[in-house]
Amino acid sequence: MSKAILLPDECYETVRQLKCFGVLAEVEPQKIRQHGDIVVDIGCGDCHQRPEWKQYLATMFKYLHSLTLNGGGVAIPVFSKANPGDIKGRAFLMDIPGSFLLKGTHVVLVTGHAPCGLVRHLNISLLEKVGYLVAAKHRIKQEIRPEHPETKVISLFHVNYGHKPERKPQGMKTYIIDDRKWTQWCTEKGDPLVSYKPECSNGHVQDVALA
Ligand SMILES: [Zn+2]
Repeated sequence: MSKAILLPDECYETVRQLKCFGVLAEVEPQKIRQHGDIVVDIGCGDCHQRPEWKQYLATMFKYLHSLTLNGGGVAIPVFSKANPGDIKGRAFLMDIPGSFLLKGTHVVLVTGHAPCGLVRHLNISLLEKVGYLVAAKHRIKQEIRPEHPETKVISLFHVNYGHKPERKPQGMKTYIIDDRKWTQWCTEKGDPLVSYKPECSNGHVQDVALA
């Protein structure tokens, strides 16, 4: 039987750096809860990890209306390695307005996680993954807001640290991705998507993490 994969040491180190820089920030549940108790939850369908995320998200939201495909939010950008032919990206984007209609919400959680089996299979680095999630948030806003201007998009990143004694914290933890800090990171350290991302120079928009 297949088992949950473990977070590699190099990814642990990258996560640590992203936290120090402020790209991965602590979730402030009271700020997130202010948008209502129903959300459209876009995520990976990982059967080993999803139950724990849902348990955590249930502390902030009463109802999760989940849209899942392998990779979750990572598969939304047109240029994502996890979105060949833009089939998955379009599928998510097509289902968001219907979810709003069915559930009376306008809040989207766009999430990714580490480690992720699909991401590992496609050799997507942890930095690329974070870049994809930021781009996913911008794409959802750009394509959904013209018809649904009240749309809110929140990018979350679930990290399963595992239980190696030298790691802190242990187990699962969820962070919010701060777009501004990500833009700053890319400016100072280099954009991991620069080699293939179209219009990279203006791809990182001036949004706050919880816009
Ligand atoms: Zn996954």
